[in-house]
Amino acid sequence: MECIFCKIAAGDIPSKKLYEDDQVLAFYDIQPKAPVHFLVIPKAHLMDGAAGVTADNSGVIAHIFEVIAKLTKELELSDFRVITNNGADAGQTVSHLHFHVL
Ligand code: 5GP
Ligand code: ZN
Repeated sequence: MECIFCKIAAGDIPSKKLYEDDQVLAFYDIQPKAPVHFLVIPKAHLMDGAAGVTADNSGVIAHIFEVIAKLTKELELSDFRVITNNGADAGQTVSHLHFHVL
């Protein structure tokens, strides 16, 4: 398995975790671009980014946004951005779907 985020989700690569359940994982970005910068990923390898969201996998996306709401409240972040880069020319470097919270 070559995907770095699959390895992080499996615990094979360590990360600074904020939240985990059976479907999703939230962890701090290794190269933060803001005072707070974490990533929320589905544990399943969804590889086509935002362009690959379908009726079959959109449930986990909704869950990711519930987790973002919970974590930003806990971190007392009232002002933040949620970003997903789709495609290399848009800045995507890891193919496993992920949402940046900055
Ligand atoms: P992208 O550029 O694909 O939108 O975002 C990938 C993000 O993953 C980057 O912000 C990068 O810093 C982060 N990242 C890459 N490898 C690792 C890693 O091994 N651990 C953590 N915590 N973040 C990583
Ligand atoms: Zn993956």
